[in-house]
Amino acid sequence: MSKTLADLFLDELQDIYDAEHRITKALPKLVKAATSPELQTALQKHLKETEGQITKLEQVFKSIGEPAKATKCDATVGLLEEGDGIAKEFKGSPAINAALISAGQKVEHYEIASYGCLIEWAGLLGHDKAAGLLQQILDQEKGANDKLTELARAGSNEEACGEEESASAGKSSAKKSPARK
Ligand code: FE
Ligand code: ZN
Ligand code: FE
Ligand code: FE
Repeated sequence: MSKTLADLFLDELQDIYDAEHRITKALPKLVKAATSPELQTALQKHLKETEGQITKLEQVFKSIGEPAKATKCDATVGLLEEGDGIAKEFKGSPAINAALISAGQKVEHYEIASYGCLIEWAGLLGHDKAAGLLQQILDQEKGANDKLTELARAGSNEEACGEEESASAGKSSAKKSPARK
């Protein structure tokens, strides 16, 4: 028998339920790796939100009469592995916060894509309560992503290029001289 949209909705719900659990475990590590207090606060806040998202997803499962179940999200495993790798690689670097922000944003974008689809499908399947709950989560993911963009622009990106700029200060006048045509 061929699979239906209802099957797809449930599959993806189980996938994101797993993802949120993994993200909950990963966020405290990112907080520790961050050296910007503002970034630490933002990640901490999103950890609390993420814990609430797990509860919201359990309400979604309940609203469609299904048991809450997690199936391994390979994408999140990979994104978090990359984030872990980059955190280790940039430990002690002025680019550490920029690196962590980019890792975080990749996760948020994955979540934004997932919840966007789930909301559309919930609507088509007539799961209005589920759609409302999923929309609340999507709004939090978008908020978290926007906050990370803001922090990158407010200092972490500049901080990341700061050392390199002073190291190459002697060469910068040559670099900035008008290009010859
Ligand atoms: Fe989330
Ligand atoms: Zn996933
Ligand atoms: Fe997945
Ligand atoms: Fe998130």
